[in-house]
Amino acid sequence: MIRHTLTALALLGLASIPALARESAGPRPIPMPADIPAARDIPYPGQLTLAVDATDLDRRIFRVKETIPVDKAGPMVLLYPEWLPGNHAPRGQIEKMAGLTITAGGKPVRWFRDPVEIYAFHVVVPEGAAALDLDFQFLSATAGDQGRVVVTREMLNLQWNSTAFYPAGWYTRQIPVEASVTLPPGWKFGVALDVAAQAGDTTTFKPVSFETLVDSPMFAGRHFRQVDLDPGGRSPVRLNIVADRAELLEMTDEQIQKHRNLVVQADRLFGARHYDRYDFLLALTDRMGGIGLEHHRSSENQVEPEYFTDWDRMAPERNLLPHEYSHSWDGKFRRGADLWTPDFMTPMRDSLLWVYEGQDQYWGYVLGARSGLASRQDTLDAIALTAASFDYRVGRQWRALEDTTNDPVISARKPKGWLSWQRNEDYYSEGQLIWLDADTLIRERTGGKKSLDDFAKAFFGVDDGVWTPLTYQFDDVVAALNAVTPYDWAGFLKTRLEGHGPAPLDGLARGGYRLVWRDRPNAYAKAAESLYKRTDLTWSVGLLLNAGGNVTGVQWDGPAFKAGLATGAQLVAVNGESYSADRLKAAIATAKDGTTPIELIVKTGDQYRVVRVAWTGGLRYPHLERIEGTPDRLGDILAARKK
Ligand SMILES: [Zn+2]
Repeated sequence: MIRHTLTALALLGLASIPALARESAGPRPIPMPADIPAARDIPYPGQLTLAVDATDLDRRIFRVKETIPVDKAGPMVLLYPEWLPGNHAPRGQIEKMAGLTITAGGKPVRWFRDPVEIYAFHVVVPEGAAALDLDFQFLSATAGDQGRVVVTREMLNLQWNSTAFYPAGWYTRQIPVEASVTLPPGWKFGVALDVAAQAGDTTTFKPVSFETLVDSPMFAGRHFRQVDLDPGGRSPVRLNIVADRAELLEMTDEQIQKHRNLVVQADRLFGARHYDRYDFLLALTDRMGGIGLEHHRSSENQVEPEYFTDWDRMAPERNLLPHEYSHSWDGKFRRGADLWTPDFMTPMRDSLLWVYEGQDQYWGYVLGARSGLASRQDTLDAIALTAASFDYRVGRQWRALEDTTNDPVISARKPKGWLSWQRNEDYYSEGQLIWLDADTLIRERTGGKKSLDDFAKAFFGVDDGVWTPLTYQFDDVVAALNAVTPYDWAGFLKTRLEGHGPAPLDGLARGGYRLVWRDRPNAYAKAAESLYKRTDLTWSVGLLLNAGGNVTGVQWDGPAFKAGLATGAQLVAVNGESYSADRLKAAIATAKDGTTPIELIVKTGDQYRVVRVAWTGGLRYPHLERIEGTPDRLGDILAARKK
């Protein structure tokens, strides 16, 4: 080999360089580990049993015993769920799984983790073994910097994917599992599973597939209330509420009625139900970590503790339930073909999330308004904020909307320094604007006879009563739109998904509204600023601040950007006086005269500097204004359906 190499180098005229003469061809990769068995669509030979002890509230530890029957000796792979539905990304919290021991007939079985697929555990099943017995813990975050806290002294959120392994080689819908949970004494729970037996504080559920188990999480708590949202309906729909304190569970009949209206309006929109029962899981808490996660027959939702008891302040919180509920149709029943996977190891591809999340975002706001959970004005105000945000999303210049569907995998929702330039999961709200564009276009072209409601019924409402996922591709979406009204829908969508043009705001004008700017926030924006303790000056100086004056967002190429400000800085003074949000707003208003500066003292780490922000446009906030003399199509969209 050396001689050969030297000859080759001599031919290149390099043989006279001594250092190169000693070079090898360089390292070669060693082979990757053997493949993990691919999932097959055949029944698993045996039923898993899973017992979760969820009583250790102080240490927030779930203790798990799991039995996986086996029918032959030899190599086997056990998987911990990695790619999680609804997360659209590999978010399984494998780092919190600990204490794993595996035995067969009481004898230890050695496991070793696959060095590449770190969610996979190799074992060799001993001769004569009937089952593997697993013993481990799921160590829930004990503080927010470790992840989402899912256990408090008053409530817990059990997600079975955190507390269960499954055998590699089978579709998860083919693996039956019988799960049980032991809760603290006196606690009650909501979960979309049927109870088989109750013994003391331990509840055993009727067996379901591993796929359904992972899709059926539990909220349990000391303070619990269940409300029937569809009395006498064709299938039960329940609101299962846990709260930090008992008095937070007080609610008025009118509040309950608005949640019931949501069920009625969704029935009228989709014209079908793809569940045999639906359980909203709702946590009124600022102790347990936040969540909004859809499932086929339930959803996990966290809102502010005073969701019911301080109702008038909570308008921005009331979009969550309509959004997650719509997912039972859009996302869980109808799912992008590349997103559906047979197990939790197969990577998900998110290319159709502008339907899954984008149109769901649209229906979330529409159903919120139709049910009365949000007032029409609150919904118009929220749409104004969305339209303005995407009007300012300058990252569209380099990053098309379709590329943002990769963001769950790329970013894992970590904060970003330059959101308006980097973009994030923009397929949600920019998607919402695209569907408003489509809805108003259908209404215009058909003289008001058809609408996106017809698409929803035809696309999401097929196969009433069936809850096996039905997948789709781009062409199926186009075909369903064409069936409502013929148009170049493929071109319409591709322009908006692949293009780098302006924000898709045509639906506003066609809906009968224009985006205007005023020097005060609209009522909904004001409520959101107050509730989430932030100051939003995106559309004037280009700054987003938290309550402490810390900069949490800087508009790319905006006035603050040009002054050298970046996320992570803290404003400590405005025109020579200590920072407050009101002082900054007053300074921005005064600077309209063109002579008074906006001078800030900015602290970054232990360094201070003075910056001047050049902006004479005053305070600026988005509102929607009716275009008189045009059809109020958006108003029609938001009006409750009578049938
Ligand atoms: Zn969603």
